[in-house]
Amino acid sequence: MTEKYEAVIGLEVHVELDTASKVFCSCPTDFGALPNTNVCPVCMGLPGALPTLNRRAVELAIRAGLATECEIARYTRFDRKNYFYPDLPKAYQISQFEYPLCSRGGVDIEVDGKQKRIGITRIHMEEDAGKLIHSEDGTMIDYNRCGVPLIEIVSEPDIRSSAEAKAYLTELRKILIYAGVSDCRMDKGSMRCDVNLSVRLNGASAMGERTEIKNVNSIAFVGKAIDYEFQRQIAVIEQGGEVFPETRRFDEADGKTHLMRRKESAADYRFFPEPDLVGFEVGEDKISEIKRELPMLPAERRRIYGEQFGVSATDANIITSHVLIADYFEKAARATVYPRLAANILLTELMSELTDSVNEKNTLEPSVPSSYLAELATLYGEQTVNSSTVKKLIKMIAAEGVSPSELVEKYGLAQINDGEYIACELDAVIKENPKLITDYRNGKLAAKKAIIGKVMARTAGRANPLILNDIFDNM
Ligand SMILES: [Zn+2]
Repeated sequence: MTEKYEAVIGLEVHVELDTASKVFCSCPTDFGALPNTNVCPVCMGLPGALPTLNRRAVELAIRAGLATECEIARYTRFDRKNYFYPDLPKAYQISQFEYPLCSRGGVDIEVDGKQKRIGITRIHMEEDAGKLIHSEDGTMIDYNRCGVPLIEIVSEPDIRSSAEAKAYLTELRKILIYAGVSDCRMDKGSMRCDVNLSVRLNGASAMGERTEIKNVNSIAFVGKAIDYEFQRQIAVIEQGGEVFPETRRFDEADGKTHLMRRKESAADYRFFPEPDLVGFEVGEDKISEIKRELPMLPAERRRIYGEQFGVSATDANIITSHVLIADYFEKAARATVYPRLAANILLTELMSELTDSVNEKNTLEPSVPSSYLAELATLYGEQTVNSSTVKKLIKMIAAEGVSPSELVEKYGLAQINDGEYIACELDAVIKENPKLITDYRNGKLAAKKAIIGKVMARTAGRANPLILNDIFDNM
């Protein structure tokens, strides 16, 4: 019965900006400091303390807007969003309501070979709240995160499935990391996602009543939460019930969404202009300057990998999964005339090591420096070494820290391209193994593999496999 319905999904993504200090004071933003050590009268909301806007935070928010093809507002302003909660010492959050910094952008995604653009309604700046820590003895509050600069990226309700939501979040995250806006670590809370979802009959234009799933903390869980909530709402409707506007949370343990609170009426935050900060204008020259500083984004890099390096779209997508891996590849690709081979070696031999390195340490410490990857591609492209020697060399580089050319020289690993020499070795193997060649002539294809293997062993893996294969077939 689900085929009758479609999901209408919009995402609100909060991203912590990568600044050294908070957005309205000079307290540091380090993650993991002792509770309530990164605080001051401004971020604690003490009477009389006045906020000063962090210029770097504004620049990073503009970067985020430019990277997602938003329009940057000429005039922007901060507003007070008033509500009471213990993690908010001022009892209001400084946010942006009427005049967001960026609006009307979009992110292009591809799902099942189909291209689609997910619109971005707006990106506005705001400050983070503190953190409540619940324990058996009661609830404690850590105000370190109060005043950490955030942007909220609000998408249009253009998303129709969990697959599209995951593709959008993956691409958005990539773009923001490439642009240097944030490290977007969902596991550390520097990127968080709220899901708004409603269902309607296919083809209907009116929107159904929507629910909001708060603070889902991984892209995979966003997918699961959407799949569950879509089915839940359909079941409610099919049973003659009604979907209520409510806030729900996703439980990782049971894979379900659970009711947190009903939204009886629209929340009234009594927004009003922040009197302690003046509205300001962003000049055209400032926007151009930030645009010039913007690093090359993943879509552009994928295009270049295809056009200049001959790398397939699928491979380019894998290599651009992280900016550090893309930078590493590009250095190697530009240092060899065989960039596509550099991509192949990277993907088959090095990718898992590099991925682990960026995921665990957020830095790249490759066992094979990019200049050595370029050299490997050149050695292989010029047929100085074959593919099994490339594998061997990668292990040797990691162990000895010496360049592949030196290793080839030192250990005599150069590929044997001399046809006569290879033919002699093949003859020798056949003379020693008459049964194998008889088997092969009787149609046993595996016997050929065995013979080739023996020749490779006799030449310490150095025979050119293409030449060997050719000689064998023309015997
Ligand atoms: Zn402070």
